[in-house]
Amino acid sequence: MIKVCKFGGSSLANAKQYRKIKKIVKEEEERKIIVVSACGKESRDDHKVTDLLYLCLAHKQYGMSYDDILKEIEDKHQRIIKELKLDYDIKKDIVRIRQLLDKKANSDEIIAYGEYLSARLMALYLKADFVDARDVICFNYDGSLNIEKTREKFLPYLKSRNKIVVPGFYGSLPNGVIKTMSRGGSDITGSVLANVVEADVYENWTDVSGIYVCDPRIIRDPKQIETITYAELREMSYMGASVLHDESIYPVKEKGIPINIRNTNKPEDRGTMIVAACEDKKNIGPITGITGKKDFVVISIAKINSSSEVGFLKKILEVFENYDVSVVLVTTGIDSFSIIVDKEDVRNNMYEIANEIKVSLKCEDVSLYDNLSLVCVVGRGMRAKKGISGRIFSLLGENGINIRTISQGADEISIIVGVDDENYAKTISCIYERFVK
Ligand code: ASP
Repeated sequence: MIKVCKFGGSSLANAKQYRKIKKIVKEEEERKIIVVSACGKESRDDHKVTDLLYLCLAHKQYGMSYDDILKEIEDKHQRIIKELKLDYDIKKDIVRIRQLLDKKANSDEIIAYGEYLSARLMALYLKADFVDARDVICFNYDGSLNIEKTREKFLPYLKSRNKIVVPGFYGSLPNGVIKTMSRGGSDITGSVLANVVEADVYENWTDVSGIYVCDPRIIRDPKQIETITYAELREMSYMGASVLHDESIYPVKEKGIPINIRNTNKPEDRGTMIVAACEDKKNIGPITGITGKKDFVVISIAKINSSSEVGFLKKILEVFENYDVSVVLVTTGIDSFSIIVDKEDVRNNMYEIANEIKVSLKCEDVSLYDNLSLVCVVGRGMRAKKGISGRIFSLLGENGINIRTISQGADEISIIVGVDDENYAKTISCIYERFVK
């Protein structure tokens, strides 16, 4: 049995957090591979080390001094070193970061220092082997991960009887140059390593005890999801829930490895399990989670007989493609089509796009509505169950919420309703109160 454990930045914010990690890791022999993020914030007004490194780069670019920022990075690590009585000379790393900044070196190498340092300290503290991600996490030149090569490089390290600590968030290109991932990328490192060692579980340790049924900014203290499938999670994160880095799902999903979201500050909580499929023994409720986003724009197009015009929808979508705008949702009536896009994506060209549709499709009736929220109700328990959508719609009706648009995927695990922005929070709380609580 082998577990890969990834700890996020808040789990490494200070010496106290390091101690919690040690306790968690030592508790189970199976917790063999430890992936760490850079040190995170200790308090609201503190800074993440990765953000500080980005700030150094920005100061360098504008010819401003970054001495104070480097000092903050040094002090943050120095406090951990002192409190945990580690034998580590942070000064030489700070000198190295300064050299890299001064010679305008590869900025990824500078940013990667956050994870490098936290992993070095963690390996020392756990008396574990430090394996640098630059030696084992392999990218292709196009920026995609090379899982085969990563496997080849990493597996020999598994022979060690010690635990292994690997910095998250970066790896290297075939020529050895360091490359970082997108923000939050340590989740991907953990997932890739879980894939290559064929882990039994990928534990992702953070500062909440699992995934909330809905946004805690809308519902105070919402319930936590016990089990969710990859497919449900995908629906939830596409529609706004931020749980794990999107790209971190694929490597574990490929091998059917479950992800367990856990809380470093409450290790006794079982957290949320993300699995390929689950045989729900007890009668689960219809809804696993409710998520959504505000600020969408609907472009509605109506033209007589257009539903019989072959290629009409394709031509509409081509206009969006030409403007490089991603379409979030398409709902159709007879001879009318609503294209829903993120407001941010059409901020500068909403009217231009509408006009182009008018002209190229010879269609007079094109209207814009820029006050739409989408609320997505996700649940494998809804599949093949009668009456759920009806109950949701009448619930909203009873509460005076007008539904502007409705969409349900063929797999029946989600229902999306479009409502006015001002009804966004109300929609989520009505559904939560009725179906979850
Ligand atoms: N340190 C990086 C970030 O802040 C990567 C990570 O924590 O996963 O985005």
